[in-house]
Amino acid sequence: MSDRPLRPATLLVRGGLNRSNHAETAEVPFLTSGFVYDDAAQAEATFENRITHYQYSRFGNPTLTMLEERLCMLEGAEACRLTATGMAAVHAAMLSHLKVGDHVVASRALFGSCHWIVANLLGRYGITHQFVDGADLVQWQAALARPTAMVLLESPSNPMLDLVDIRAVCDLAHQAGALVVVDNVFATPLLQRPLEMGADIITYSCTKHMDGQGRVLGGAILGPKKWVDEVLQPFIRNTGPSMAVFNAWVILKGLETLKLRVDAMCRSAAAVADFLAERAEIKRVLYPFRADHPQQALALKQMTAGGTVVCLELNGGKEAAFRFMDALRIIDISNNLGDSKSMVTHPATTTHLRIGAEERAKLGISDGVVRLSVGLEDVADLIDDLAMALDAAAPLAIAAE
Ligand SMILES: *Cc1c(COP(=O)(O)O)cnc(C)c1O
Repeated sequence: MSDRPLRPATLLVRGGLNRSNHAETAEVPFLTSGFVYDDAAQAEATFENRITHYQYSRFGNPTLTMLEERLCMLEGAEACRLTATGMAAVHAAMLSHLKVGDHVVASRALFGSCHWIVANLLGRYGITHQFVDGADLVQWQAALARPTAMVLLESPSNPMLDLVDIRAVCDLAHQAGALVVVDNVFATPLLQRPLEMGADIITYSCTKHMDGQGRVLGGAILGPKKWVDEVLQPFIRNTGPSMAVFNAWVILKGLETLKLRVDAMCRSAAAVADFLAERAEIKRVLYPFRADHPQQALALKQMTAGGTVVCLELNGGKEAAFRFMDALRIIDISNNLGDSKSMVTHPATTTHLRIGAEERAKLGISDGVVRLSVGLEDVADLIDDLAMALDAAAPLAIAAE
């Protein structure tokens, strides 16, 4: 084999594969909580870090290692640690690094629980924060004029699909001394490579596209080996947010089809966005690769496709949005995304209920906003379903226009 780097589709199937001496085809789930030693001296040498030997699955496990290596190769990262959920990943990335007196700058348009960590948790540990409008570089510049320990951003954001100019913000953040954490869930490792744009740490919810079939929860943190070994690993080892071995195995198998699924879902999402944009019941459609997205140029620069999520705003507010969602026959109402099944969410009353009306208004999450995660069904069936549901909502949506 040549030394040419393997392409993502190959890495997704083969990266990190570590067969046991039985030469099994599929990755083995090493469903064991612990490991044994040949003798007491080997246990001592292991705990003194003189030899490498698995100790306990809270710190490490061969199945977790396979998934960590696969994700490192895919992302171009030096090291990875896995967590039980995406939120555990964001929490561990932040709290392992931050200490009393530190300052954090974050884009306001974050996943609801990420927003909660910044707004409600950090202060309890004496860590200050400032939110900025992620699309506005002037705000980033002003916020990062003071020393900052960490920047947290999400692009595209949930649910409004706002983008952050990752390269420009990384430059500003590094001048302020900050470590940049990018929550890359919406783009997946296939559509956007934040490390190449200067980001330091990447977090994922593996629950979304990586499993992608609604089975398990999981999270991942990728970054420099020194930071992972010295800052993150002691935190994970001693606080215990580790990923379950079985879940790591499910996600390994999910990754084998990630590229096929994400490519197909992006194609369908783009077609669905174009269909929705023509409908009178809809005030606006947000999809990063469409010409009417306010940041299309940036999307084309830093992403290779527009993603699997479309955001739409119905005329007629909550009533029209609920009528539309309730009329769907194929597309499910659920708060998940990145699944092979298409799903709609009403953020104002679910995922973004707790951030409050004032914060929602700042983010543009009106009561007419519906988030659509496009799945793997035939796109013609999805469009038929959406058309029928828009017809049902039309009396409310058109009257309100
Ligand atoms: C879902 C999600 C998370 C949280 O992941 P869980 O696996 O549900 O804990 C974090 N960030 C973003 C952008 C998400 O979409």
